[in-house]
Amino acid sequence: MAALNGKRMFPCPVCTDPREVRTTKKQKPYLVCDPCGVQVFIRGPAGIAAFDRLVDRGDREDLWARLREMERRYYLKCPECGCRFWAEPELAKTSIFDGSLQGFRCPEKKCGATVAWENKQ
Ligand SMILES: [Zn+2]
Ligand SMILES: [Zn+2]
Repeated sequence: MAALNGKRMFPCPVCTDPREVRTTKKQKPYLVCDPCGVQVFIRGPAGIAAFDRLVDRGDREDLWARLREMERRYYLKCPECGCRFWAEPELAKTSIFDGSLQGFRCPEKKCGATVAWENKQ
């Protein structure tokens, strides 16, 4: 499923949607995600080798299923303002009573809502 129409695909680091792996004139791989406005260039030989391995492994193994699973767990949507963000330790909000994880703070400055963790289980 990773190799759509024979193209090599790799997830955008921001939205995790599969994007086509393109190649520069100098034969260096790069990704472009238009919705995110992200461009990732892999320039170093060691980086290119590691990147190729990752892409090929994604073709063979279930990289995409694992990413979906990660997204289901850690990619949150704020119910107040609708912004989407990755759950990060800095955003974790714990109960002042027993220290249990309550949820994650929306990173939008004006919002500050807590997205309940329970909803994601
Ligand atoms: Zn993206
Ligand atoms: Zn919000």
